[in-house]
Amino acid sequence: MENCLFCKIIAGDIPSTKVYEDETVLAFRDIAPMAPTHILVIPKCHIPSVDGITPENSAVVAHIFELIPQIAAAEKLTGGYRVVSNCGPDAGQTVNHLHFHILGGKELSVQMA
Ligand code: AMP
Ligand code: ZN
Repeated sequence: MENCLFCKIIAGDIPSTKVYEDETVLAFRDIAPMAPTHILVIPKCHIPSVDGITPENSAVVAHIFELIPQIAAAEKLTGGYRVVSNCGPDAGQTVNHLHFHILGGKELSVQMA
């Protein structure tokens, strides 16, 4: 997808600090971390947001959720962690390529909205 920041990261046109990669998924460190550990997990196929998840592409989302505990364990997030996906403007989504934030490494605020 042209002009998609995360598609450019997947293509290697923009550098990232990768923590995990396979054929369908990439995980890398957020450039502006909001917690000691802040990782973004993305599908390599361009899905704009949670709203774009369908029966045809949801297998990669299931795969991401199987990987998240493995990534959290590798990052030693033994005290727990939060998984967040902002969908659309009211949620403050700034990059229109589906991504799941993994946040941890400290006791996180309980604020949800
Ligand atoms: P969201 O606001 O939920 O759409 O999340 C987008 C996230 O992408 C933010 O946390 C940004 O800090 C992060 N981000 C933006 N550009 C980059 C980049 N080049 N490398 C890593 N993370 C980025
Ligand atoms: Zn994209």
